[in-house]
Amino acid sequence: MTQTSPSPTRTDAYLDEAERWSAHNYKPLPVVLERGEGVWVWDVEGRKYLDMLAAYSALNQGHRHPAILEAAREQMAKLTLTSRAFHNDQMGPFVRELCEATGFDRALPMNTGAEAVETAIKMVRKWGYRVKGIEDGRAEIIVCSGNFAGRTTTIVGFSSEAQYKEGFGPFTPGFREVPYGDVEAFRGAINENTVGFLVEPIQGEGGVVVPPEGYLRETRAICRERNVAFMADEIQTGLGRTGRLFCTEWEEVRPDVLIVGKALGGGVYPVSAAIADDEMMGVFRPGDHGSTFGGNPLGAAVARASLRVILEEELPRRSDELGSWFTGELRKIESPHVDHVRGRGLMIGVVIRDASGPARPFCEALMDRGILAKETQKQVIRFAPPLTIEKAHLEAALLEIAPVLRGEGVAL
Ligand SMILES: *Cc1c(COP(=O)(O)O)cnc(C)c1O
Repeated sequence: MTQTSPSPTRTDAYLDEAERWSAHNYKPLPVVLERGEGVWVWDVEGRKYLDMLAAYSALNQGHRHPAILEAAREQMAKLTLTSRAFHNDQMGPFVRELCEATGFDRALPMNTGAEAVETAIKMVRKWGYRVKGIEDGRAEIIVCSGNFAGRTTTIVGFSSEAQYKEGFGPFTPGFREVPYGDVEAFRGAINENTVGFLVEPIQGEGGVVVPPEGYLRETRAICRERNVAFMADEIQTGLGRTGRLFCTEWEEVRPDVLIVGKALGGGVYPVSAAIADDEMMGVFRPGDHGSTFGGNPLGAAVARASLRVILEEELPRRSDELGSWFTGELRKIESPHVDHVRGRGLMIGVVIRDASGPARPFCEALMDRGILAKETQKQVIRFAPPLTIEKAHLEAALLEIAPVLRGEGVAL
């Protein structure tokens, strides 16, 4: 019997199923993963890949880190959910350890990053009314062009990405946008109703955009002068990603509100938090805000282990050292397609020239060579592997990345 067309693979079957039954709100690379360990993942055909996206930095500790899995297993054998109607024996230790690691008075645990951002917005608005004395309903928060803070209707309402908003209005008022990286524009946007400045120390989804040196320090100082809350969205940049525990440390900035998520759950369970001192967190009264799963014992136990791994394995230092070296190696690759390489620690963007077309075909060619990376914005390939990665892995990856950046196997 002759076969005229190649038999459909398991991959095709999974792709067809997802295509048929899921909402089309994503356009993933056509690879179907079924197993992960450390920096590696395997697809349903048994092919092995180096994960250089790490779930947008939610997997800083790598896939299925044994200490995090152990904590999850242990907790699952005891108690998983109480709701906040009752106390549990994991939440207290979790928020204490989180505050001790970050140097703040209090933490409010949530689940997804967007919820932690919403929490921070509510906290800062209420602080504006109750403490700063702004007229009710007038509070304004300054945000940056190119921001990404999640996908709730309030958050997409202040996005500068047209597609994030199209068809989803009307939006929550009270946000004012200024160009990212522009200190004077920020200063000029402050008025008597400004309560907060929401900023990513490096914009991840915006395309791994690093602001000019001094931007965070100077906007922080202006916030202090004008009594505006500096709200650092470190959901992606935090917990070691950029070579410090928090990216704001690069400019010795201590925010008023620190927003964390992603790697706080160690790639196992969604855990996020808004963290602040008493003056701000004190505005919340029982009933003001909440979440059924926020602070649940399973998430808290997972987050405690996730945080411990980051600190004990010195992931920020690894990210700093390996990131500097790897960025240097990427910059040495001579290619007509690469405009420049930017980033900090192991949060790296390779910017493809407009004339070479979008970054997506480069990511597809990388996938064919066993490297999983994803474009962010049209022109940027993001490299953000687990921080547990070893130099040898990166050396091997460079042997695959270099030819792809030169255009080999890329559908240009
Ligand atoms: C991912 C991300 C969020 C949103 O987190 P979700 O868990 O997807 O809701 C918010 N801010 C930044 C900077 C992010 O990278």
